[in-house]
Amino acid sequence: MSAETAGFDVVVVGGGPCGSAVSTLVAMQGHRVLLLEKEKFPRYQIGESLLPATVHGVCRLLGVSEELDKAGFMLKRGGTFRWGRNPEPWTFSFGISSKFVSEASTAYQVERMRFDQILLDNARRRGVEVREESSVADVIEDADGRVCGVRYTDADGVTHEVSARFVVDSSGNGSRIHKKVGGQRRYSEFFRNLALFGYFEGGKRLPAPNEGNILAAAFDSGWFWYIPLTDTLTSVGAVLHPDALERAQGDKEQALLDLIAECPLIADYLADARRVTSGPYGEVRVRKDYSYIQEKFWRPGLILAGDAACFIDPVFSSGVHLATYSALLAARTINTVLAGTAGETESCEEFEARYRAEYARFHDFLVAFYDMHEDESSYFWRAKKVTGNAASDVESFVELVGGGSSGEGALIDAKAYLGKRAPAFQELSDAVERPVLVAGEDRDLLKTELARSVSREGTRIQVQASLGANADERTPVRDGGLVPSADGMHWIRPVQQQAS
Ligand code: FAD
Repeated sequence: MSAETAGFDVVVVGGGPCGSAVSTLVAMQGHRVLLLEKEKFPRYQIGESLLPATVHGVCRLLGVSEELDKAGFMLKRGGTFRWGRNPEPWTFSFGISSKFVSEASTAYQVERMRFDQILLDNARRRGVEVREESSVADVIEDADGRVCGVRYTDADGVTHEVSARFVVDSSGNGSRIHKKVGGQRRYSEFFRNLALFGYFEGGKRLPAPNEGNILAAAFDSGWFWYIPLTDTLTSVGAVLHPDALERAQGDKEQALLDLIAECPLIADYLADARRVTSGPYGEVRVRKDYSYIQEKFWRPGLILAGDAACFIDPVFSSGVHLATYSALLAARTINTVLAGTAGETESCEEFEARYRAEYARFHDFLVAFYDMHEDESSYFWRAKKVTGNAASDVESFVELVGGGSSGEGALIDAKAYLGKRAPAFQELSDAVERPVLVAGEDRDLLKTELARSVSREGTRIQVQASLGANADERTPVRDGGLVPSADGMHWIRPVQQQAS
């Protein structure tokens, strides 16, 4: 075992979008940051459909916009859905009703091997010391129980100890580091889905200008994502009820092909395509137990961000947004404590409150989005009706989501949740369920309260990234809370408090 004598300000565990983003935003303030990544990049990861806030917000703050532009990722204007009562697909475009009608109202579909590599290389360039093939086994605590470093094993099997003032766990959903924060990882009963996915060459594309959109198609057993990654490569995945596990555990390739045959729209789009059977895209993969939230997001010396803290569901592409958004919040928190301008407890509580609140907004929106599907004849969709069996499951999870330090009063009272949200659910449903007169026609979801609420924070980050300064947040989001500094990279007390 080797112990490094010169410690770091921050050790970040995991080099996915969250880890790369938080380490870069802290290193850019002049702090010493070490990032430990278990794999050798490029490595495979799912989560390919991005939102504008990641591309034009956090990625711009990281200084990688030009590189992403040059990488030639598929441009995504929004999503096209065969969802709800309409037999015909309809389209949601980021640009409609948005202040950002320009390239900022688009996002990318990315091959994660390439996207994550760009962010990790950028972290290196911005001063982060990156060690790949370095798997973190545990955190180290000091005599007072504060987390003060990690123990990891390198590619040669040598164990190292390294100390730091902060450890960020951004190791995704598969590692065990999150257990060190205390409390439980609580799994959602409502989003208890499983995903079966693979890759195809030569699938059809939606008509221009929506050829880069994600296509989401509901069918009896669940719904499909169809994500165009290049002109010819498509990521195709089925999201199913957990009872389908046996089906997905047998011959996975055949199970995916059988499911495709059950969904006429996807079958048509793949009619002339062939499944990729070699290389990183050659395997048909299964993911389950991915919808959860930690009871605690931090303890002294340790912060959980990205999937290490929580994830909801693949629908509406919220995963990388939550990962990069939480990276920005965590970076503000660490930069503040390291600068000594606010204490650890109040800064970490600000991080947790805002991250939980953003999670809660997406959770609400996604519950409503699943709920509107009218197909009472299918087991999957019946189980997703909040007014039916699943209502209590949603309530109990919402209680948790709204709990902690978020102070979201409306959500803490779980009993009131469904009643309170009924008008918002109805508004979203009305926006979606109008008959589709022209196949693929645009639906302006951003006029609905639920969709506006999930785009608000993303818009703020985009404004910050384009102005180079925090533009509009001067009021705390909770009593006694902090607000972002002018450069958006720290927390400060609101002006009234500073003056008193
Ligand atoms: P990750 O991307 O998982 O990165 C974590 C990193 O930590 C990895 O590189 C890993 O190797 C490393 N690591 C793990 N353990 C250790 C260790 N002990 N020591 C050192 N390093 C370690 N999101 C979207 O935005 N759009 C989508 O379309 C989408 N589709 C999805 C479909 C499915 C089926 C699922 C399950 C998720 C989907 N997601 C999607 C979510 C998305 O995959 C995640 O939210 C996102 O990857 C989280 O980023 P992260 O940086 O937190 O974690």
